[in-house]
Amino acid sequence: MKIAVFPGSFDPITIGHVQIVKRALPLFDKIIIAVGVNSQKKYLYTLDERLAGIDRVFANDPKVEVDKHEGLTAHYCIKKNARYLLRGLRNASDFDYEKQLSQMNQIIGDGVETVFLISQPEFSHISSTLVREVIKGGGDATVFLPKGFKVEGADEFIRRSK
Ligand code: ADP
Repeated sequence: MKIAVFPGSFDPITIGHVQIVKRALPLFDKIIIAVGVNSQKKYLYTLDERLAGIDRVFANDPKVEVDKHEGLTAHYCIKKNARYLLRGLRNASDFDYEKQLSQMNQIIGDGVETVFLISQPEFSHISSTLVREVIKGGGDATVFLPKGFKVEGADEFIRRSK
């Protein structure tokens, strides 16, 4: 069984992430979206909000599983019997970072292969970091988010991020 792990912070999941998963579905038997839990990192959305948002988007895709993970992604892949990591590439700076990450993951992940999909042009400007900035600034980020993703309560996010 070809299992791929798509790791990330997904703070929040954007339509850029969704296109990567949808395009990768024909390549794998199962894709596990692994939401990172890092106690050093300050998130805008809580882990439960990030998980629930992704669950809703892929509710009708039986090949997609949503999970959380702490620690090294490479170790998580071994635990899940996943031989593949899935990542998206938007630009040259993604590439420089991802190249190193992939090479190191292959060593510590017992040969796990990273499969890269180049972002489609209409999504390549979208990043969770900038979406968070829009939300914190009180702007309307719905255009960057999957349909039905809850963004109301910007005031609450502004409060959290202070
Ligand atoms: P991380 O903190 O690990 O970078 P992200 O949630 O920001 O987590 O991203 C997870 C993956 O999704 C990364 O491979 C990233 O390059 C990819 N990604 C994010 N946004 C886009 C996009 N708009 N188009 C294609 N890939 C994307």
